[in-house]
Amino acid sequence: MKNTAKLLLGLLLSCSASAQQPRQLPQADERYKTDILLVVAHPDDEGAATPYLARAIDEGKRVAVVYTTHGGNGANEAGSEQAAALGEIREIEARRANAYLGITNVWFLAGKDTASQNVLQSLANWGHGQSLQELVRLVRLTRPEVILTFLPDTFVGEDHGDHQAAGVLATEAFDLAGDPTVFPEQVAGPTRRLETFLENLRPWQTKKIYYFPDADREDIFRGLGPEYSVKDLSKSTKLPYWRMALNSFFIHQTQAKSYIDSMAKMNDAEIEKLAASEWSDAQHFVRGKTLVGGSVTGDIFEGVTPQAILFSPPGRAVEPPPSGLSAELAGPWSFYEAFRRAHGLQQLPHPEPPEIALQFGTTLVIPLWLSNGLTTPQKITLSVTPPAGWTVQAGTETVIVGPQQVAAARIEIGLPAAPEGAAKKELQEVAVNAEADGKSIGVMKLRIQLRKKALAQ
Ligand SMILES: [Zn+2]
Repeated sequence: MKNTAKLLLGLLLSCSASAQQPRQLPQADERYKTDILLVVAHPDDEGAATPYLARAIDEGKRVAVVYTTHGGNGANEAGSEQAAALGEIREIEARRANAYLGITNVWFLAGKDTASQNVLQSLANWGHGQSLQELVRLVRLTRPEVILTFLPDTFVGEDHGDHQAAGVLATEAFDLAGDPTVFPEQVAGPTRRLETFLENLRPWQTKKIYYFPDADREDIFRGLGPEYSVKDLSKSTKLPYWRMALNSFFIHQTQAKSYIDSMAKMNDAEIEKLAASEWSDAQHFVRGKTLVGGSVTGDIFEGVTPQAILFSPPGRAVEPPPSGLSAELAGPWSFYEAFRRAHGLQQLPHPEPPEIALQFGTTLVIPLWLSNGLTTPQKITLSVTPPAGWTVQAGTETVIVGPQQVAAARIEIGLPAAPEGAAKKELQEVAVNAEADGKSIGVMKLRIQLRKKALAQ
């Protein structure tokens, strides 16, 4: 008995001896930790932020970039390749353009370049769920302090649904990546030594999100976030930040070979003169959300400290309850209303009435939701007041909406042909009136700018 007791004691001691030598568990890979995660749609879109990114890198910030598509729908000025082949080339151009600035952590999602102004078309064509899953993974992998992305909205100057969709995805990822129940397989620990399914990432709450509008629209966006001079000199290269951005952009030969070739014939003074006349002096951001305070126009990193913060689900604004009969704009316009409420972004600037730029000679489609909260079917009559020379083609009719139903309707208006000479820049207003029993149940306004060239609505 005595010997057995001794043996057990010895075993216990040896066990506790091995327990006293703690094993180092693997940590998250620091090579991918980032301060700024830029989320954009197409290779060359990073150019919307490169003057600021060059400055941030000078200040020691780590930057990573996610492209949601390969840009396979773009033009190719450098060679004959198109579509998916062009996308492969544009990936390399983007990697080189980023590398020029010192950015090497660059990822591409599987979204397809979608040529329309409608954010919902882009999200549908990308596979919204798949893209979001990939982006949430990259947020958890790169653990950004700040996300920078396109401002998600439709307005004159923002003519690409893909840009808006990148802003939508980035906002969703900002709100979801810290939630361990969202894509839980990404944050599950391994069940075996060489785990093949579970990713062993940690949830991550990004601290701030800033947007850049894809248009110089002082009337809507000025003063709602920090601005940075593009003329300041880089500490590392002694070049002004606009020049670093331009040098980086020059790598996108498929997109701008003719422009680059014309610049190659200019001397530095001529290029500087052109830059001063064509580009704004400062880069503007719109503050989306902050979970660490800081002032609206203060530095992007104001309030950011190295400590991780807890998951903070967005404050969701309550939707006004539907009552009686109503009519409202549908499509991207109603989506963005709901989007701002869902993500606590009601302060985000948006043009009112909503606006869009369209091409002369095309068709304006006004999507509508007609709601009947009553207990009997209701007749709703739609009419339009268009500007002179515009032709209402379809949708002005009386429709019946069932009790407790919401139905989609659509007005189509033919736009006039392009005038000789320069087109007017002013926006023109279209009003749609919805009536029931001789009383208006909603007037929906849209402001349209007609252009010689614009992406499909
Ligand atoms: Zn783009």
